[in-house]
Amino acid sequence: MKRITILGSTGSIGVNTLSVISRHADKYKVMALTANTNLDKLSEQCIKHKPEFAVMVDDDSALRLEQDLKNRAPDVTVLSGVDGLLKVATLFDVDYVMAAIVGAAGLLPTLGAAKAGKRVLLANKEALVMSGQLFMDTVRENNAELLPIDSEHNAIFQCMPVDFSTGIEKLGVKKILLTASGGPFRTTPLEQLSSMTPEQACAHPNWVMGRKISVDSATMMNKGLEVIEACWLFHTQTKCIQVVIHPQSVIHSLVEYTDGSVLAQLGNPDMRTPIAYGLAWPNRIDAGVERLDLFDIAQLDFIRPDEQRFPCLRIAREAMEQGGTTSAILNAANEVAVNQFLHKRLRFTDIARVIETVLENVMYSEATSLDDILSDDQAARDEALTTINGLAA
Ligand code: NAD
Ligand code: MG
Repeated sequence: MKRITILGSTGSIGVNTLSVISRHADKYKVMALTANTNLDKLSEQCIKHKPEFAVMVDDDSALRLEQDLKNRAPDVTVLSGVDGLLKVATLFDVDYVMAAIVGAAGLLPTLGAAKAGKRVLLANKEALVMSGQLFMDTVRENNAELLPIDSEHNAIFQCMPVDFSTGIEKLGVKKILLTASGGPFRTTPLEQLSSMTPEQACAHPNWVMGRKISVDSATMMNKGLEVIEACWLFHTQTKCIQVVIHPQSVIHSLVEYTDGSVLAQLGNPDMRTPIAYGLAWPNRIDAGVERLDLFDIAQLDFIRPDEQRFPCLRIAREAMEQGGTTSAILNAANEVAVNQFLHKRLRFTDIARVIETVLENVMYSEATSLDDILSDDQAARDEALTTINGLAA
């Protein structure tokens, strides 16, 4: 029986994780569930899954949850704040931690889980983008297991030799082909992009996801973050990663080898597949996913990405190449810009402009400590808001 903490259980990945776990009550026990503000959903999840702990980030919401659960799930201990998140990510009794908080807010508990030597199921790509080397060192030094849940990285992981920790070039890998759907604006006339609304940006053609990652998919910053994520996970560099637009989202990524072999992982676009793989690895379990029918799909397309339409791809790649805290600065600027766009205070095409301005104005540093990373993250957030206010003036 593996005992699991789900950080961000009320989100899209969290709900899908509970869906897979529910099919295998004999194999997995939910130890802790956490949410930011969604009290009703967390309460409902606690009643159904009876975890030992529930965490709400906000103190008042935690008190209300405690009241709510008093009669219906009295054995659940309710905690609050980042301390609560850290505690449930590092509990001695926990084997696996699903890192499914969105954004920088997930960094501390996810890093905590790595430090505690857990199996970390990483959906929260922003945590790795921010802390790169520090995160990978923490995993190695504490014998944690890091399994990618992002569908592309999960696919790459499935197509890699078993142990690639010493570098993939030595194992005959030539290139990673990272697929991308191209998002909802892949064919929108360029002159219309600036007037796209949050609702249009969040209407992803193939995946149902949280709002932040949906906007990231529309700008393709999501793929930019994924290039950075892949560099760290697979010990490689941007030049070995080729982004390929594949609108059907059936091939989740590919690995090309020196002998000309190209291995791919395919499946219906359903996050329960990579989640189930992360939970069961090195075995396989039923994920409740619809079977892939190649006759139904009939055709698969591949298109080279257009960096004029999607400048975030270039910006992210350059950030990774610059190194240090640059990727943390990129991530923070993007989080602020996306949030402002979702609140209709920034135009869609200004997201990339704001990020570029922040990268020009905030000095990056060596990312040797968590303090360096967090302080540059904060500087980037301040600069992003100043830039956005300047645009509005
Ligand atoms: P979501 O918005 O649906 O859910 C986010 C979860 O994080 C919620 O449970 C929320 O309560 C919690 N949360 C938000 N802000 C928080 C804060 N400040 N402190 C603590 N908890 C907080 O997001 P999602 O789509 O499930 O994505 C989660 C992560 O997984 C993201 O990093 C995303 O990039 C990644 N991811 C998602 C998908 C997908 O299909 N949804 C695919 C690949 C990767
Ligand atoms: Mg992905």
